[in-house]
Amino acid sequence: MKKIISNISSSISHLLFPHNCLGCATDVLNEEDLICSRCVTELPATNYFKAAENPIEKIFYGRIKIENAAAGFYFTKQSLMQHLLQQLKYKGNKDVGIYLGKLIGYELMHSKRFDDIDALIPLPLNVKREFKRGYNQSMLICQGIASVWQKPIINGMVIRTVFTETQTNKSRINRWQNMDGVFAIDNTKAIAGKHILLIDDVVTSGATLEACGHKILEVANTKLSIATVTCTT
Ligand SMILES: [Zn+2]
Repeated sequence: MKKIISNISSSISHLLFPHNCLGCATDVLNEEDLICSRCVTELPATNYFKAAENPIEKIFYGRIKIENAAAGFYFTKQSLMQHLLQQLKYKGNKDVGIYLGKLIGYELMHSKRFDDIDALIPLPLNVKREFKRGYNQSMLICQGIASVWQKPIINGMVIRTVFTETQTNKSRINRWQNMDGVFAIDNTKAIAGKHILLIDDVVTSGATLEACGHKILEVANTKLSIATVTCTT
């Protein structure tokens, strides 16, 4: 009887608050799922998490010492993945961050290559941007990962300093030098001796992740790996 009542109440709540797939708008009954099972399987998975020397690791060759790196999905324009990231970054849809984090959390969990990670660090956002958005999307992704793959999150120990200077007229080298001063470590004790997995939503040139990664590697006995939800490579 209890079960019948609970089924009826969940049906009523579903009628009052319909929960549709963000991809195809079909009715998704499981409250935790943001997209339906068909749309999930159609997301362009890279399968990089299990692959050594994958294209994401190659981005960082000769630039920074990393143990492993991977991205979960290809980022393409006019795609469901683009729509999801827009929801996350510009529409205030925090659930998308948790959801995408879970998707790559399962990948990390099933890939032996990332087994010895000690902690997750979200790539810090520029303070002004985080204030405007109200959250750091990389932190939400970390929370999603940690909900399926039990790893601690170290937040607020790596910080991003504010830019006052406009960068648009600077050369690439100058911009890179600027990037080099963007990150700082607030608490080295929290990071020392750990294998850190640095997390972001997307990797393109890798310059930001690299700059942040160099700061992490300056702390005694740290190791660095990188994981992102998407990649443009
Ligand atoms: Zn769908």
